[in-house]
Amino acid sequence: MFLEKSGRSGWVEVICGSMFSGKTEELIRRLKRAEFANQAIEIFKPAVDIRYSKENVTSHDSRAMESTPVDSADSILLLAGDADVVGIDEAQFFDHNIVDVCQHLADSGVRVICAGLDMDYLGNPFGPMPDLMAVAEYVTKVHAICVKCGGLAQHSHRKVPGGNLVMLGEKEAYEPLCRHCFNLERTREKAEGSDNAKDKSCG
Ligand SMILES: [Zn+2]
Repeated sequence: MFLEKSGRSGWVEVICGSMFSGKTEELIRRLKRAEFANQAIEIFKPAVDIRYSKENVTSHDSRAMESTPVDSADSILLLAGDADVVGIDEAQFFDHNIVDVCQHLADSGVRVICAGLDMDYLGNPFGPMPDLMAVAEYVTKVHAICVKCGGLAQHSHRKVPGGNLVMLGEKEAYEPLCRHCFNLERTREKAEGSDNAKDKSCG
């Protein structure tokens, strides 16, 4: 499978950050640029992400590109076909096999662009994202703006209690916070004994 496309290997790009940081917009920007150059594009997202549409990768500002929802990372290999560029949105929700899948595609000459949350709402590294970032040639960390102080935000703070990491379709349940404001909120939640403070695990 090595060096199949035009005699060179591909590479892996990761776009990561908190909610409201423009990850998907950046993914779409890169894909549209490749599309303009007549490169063949395939876009995948985990079937769990049904926030807006089953067929589109949709950013919060509603720009969309057609995408294929898949149940597992392996399905991407089966469906990538002759794509020059493979985009993967919400990569944090894929099983860990997504790392091998991206490596395999890149080894085969494909440019792979993954977008995803780098941290969960508790501030822990999210799913396969740390390993994806480790093997990627290029990592772009984008930031939101902290709603408390206006600084650069890297946390997706959940404003409502609950233990389910996969809580989608409710963006009003989250707010972007910087490190300082996130720590203040977490300290307050622990003092109040809220559900968020009791969550220790990812699930
Ligand atoms: Zn702040």
